[in-house]
Amino acid sequence: MTTSELAGLKVVAVHAHPDDEAIWTGGLLCDLARRGAQVTVVTCTLGEEGETIGPDLQYLTVDHADQLGGYRIQELAEAQRILGVQHRFLGGAGRFRDSGMEGSPAHADLRAFVNAGSASVDALDEILQEIQPQLIVTYGPDGGYGHPDHIAAHKIVHAAKYTPQRILWCVTSKPMIHTGSAAITAPAGWRTAPGEIACVDTWDVAHPLSPEVFDAKIQAMRAHATQVWIADGRPHPLGAGSARAIVEDVEAAPVVWALSNLIAQPLTPVEYYQLGAGEPLPDGANDVTAGLVV
Ligand SMILES: [Zn+2]
Repeated sequence: MTTSELAGLKVVAVHAHPDDEAIWTGGLLCDLARRGAQVTVVTCTLGEEGETIGPDLQYLTVDHADQLGGYRIQELAEAQRILGVQHRFLGGAGRFRDSGMEGSPAHADLRAFVNAGSASVDALDEILQEIQPQLIVTYGPDGGYGHPDHIAAHKIVHAAKYTPQRILWCVTSKPMIHTGSAAITAPAGWRTAPGEIACVDTWDVAHPLSPEVFDAKIQAMRAHATQVWIADGRPHPLGAGSARAIVEDVEAAPVVWALSNLIAQPLTPVEYYQLGAGEPLPDGANDVTAGLVV
């Protein structure tokens, strides 16, 4: 169900790679869009340096055909359709390239996002000036988990001339990861490793997701099949087979999923955000839009 409760509110989420919007912020963005806000995801790279889950598309990766980035455009489009949000690529699709992990040879590419300098700030400013969002969502200074492109996304948001009323940083909750992981018996070939998942103890707002919004987030994550595997027993669409996690406490881990590293991660119907800049949240707020003026 959609409402016009947030009509006039404009929100931009700035993300490093296709899939980040769904994994980190899919519930919030879907919720705000359903409540009438205009929500736009800006993706900075095509995620060209990623691995792919399952045998079907393994030759698309950078070590082979180097076609993964192009393929991920349609995964991203489907995820945005499910979330009900608009989408832009920073500077146009493929303008800036995935830089890979810290120390990756991909950093040497002139198009690598980490080498973009003021061109990437200008490209973001152009979008922000056009949309005039009151709220921007991105990562904290560590990029959420240290990926150089995530750190670069954080930097361009904070370097842009355009200043919104509020900037929020999406974070992963440590209690959620640790309690959830303890409740999971990982599927064969997977493992739990809460200590390897970057997460934090503090946040300024925990944004609850309705069952419908939580379901949309899961479906949007599923749309990124090269990157995400949901352990619900359904076959993975790219030939990886099926995986089903056994969960002792369903509230602690109603959904279990993994990236290509096959570390089983719990997913709960809440997203956590820290105030990065601008208008503080009122005490006790459980909605990221509290206190924003439209
Ligand atoms: Zn990413």
